[in-house]
Amino acid sequence: MKTNYHTHHYLCNHATGKTEDYVKEAIKIGLEVLGMSDHAPNTRVNDQGVRMKPSDFPFYLEDIEDAQRKYAGKIKILKGIEVEYFYDHEEYYEFLREKLDYLIHGQHYISMTKRMDDLISGFNLKTVEQINRYASYLEDAIESGYFDIIAHPDLYMNNYPKFDKYAVSVAHRICKSAKKHNIILEYNANGYRRGGKNTEKGFFPNYPRLEFWKIVKEYNCKTIFSSDCHSPEFLYNDTVKEAEEVYLKMGLNNVEYLELKKK
Ligand SMILES: [Zn+2]
Ligand SMILES: [Zn+2]
Repeated sequence: MKTNYHTHHYLCNHATGKTEDYVKEAIKIGLEVLGMSDHAPNTRVNDQGVRMKPSDFPFYLEDIEDAQRKYAGKIKILKGIEVEYFYDHEEYYEFLREKLDYLIHGQHYISMTKRMDDLISGFNLKTVEQINRYASYLEDAIESGYFDIIAHPDLYMNNYPKFDKYAVSVAHRICKSAKKHNIILEYNANGYRRGGKNTEKGFFPNYPRLEFWKIVKEYNCKTIFSSDCHSPEFLYNDTVKEAEEVYLKMGLNNVEYLELKKK
């Protein structure tokens, strides 16, 4: 691992550490690029306890800029954010793109009506209709052009245990769209810290799902590995190394470095 573009910050209230804490750890493990990407503020989502407040956003930028100055020449530090795709947020994405180096798309919620008042968790999709809707959100997010990386694209498998023909079809829709728009799909090591199955052959997380990534490989989509760490010591700990080993063994099209879009 030479880069990590998916890094959280204490501002989201379910992570620890500020930029400098992650930078120190990144230097220790020899990263060349560290991208900060905490959960974006959005007062229209009913989860204010797990994302930064809009009033914290200027501080978030300053905190990254301070680290950029202090560690100049030692490591490249980038300003990013992780944000969901919702249907009437164009101005917001324009605003974020203006302020940041890159945007990570992470669809933690979907709505069956494409509204904001009936969101359901992306971690808890159970029906064919729901996973198909998840696919639509990802296709539309990719098509919008606002995002650089699609985080944990296989999150829809978190609570949909069988990789059946419907799950296969969702994977094809996401990969087809990613390939067409040349966008990067993220292999998310944080999935290894969540639920999964222990078998004789080892631990299999609910996501990332091997079956999904085999389809990604068929399409030769661009991919990236990231730790999605919520604490500095998880930037590259044993769990992340275990995930990295699986990722590298698959021989996916690994870009490693993100090419920043011109502003
Ligand atoms: Zn988080
Ligand atoms: Zn994240």
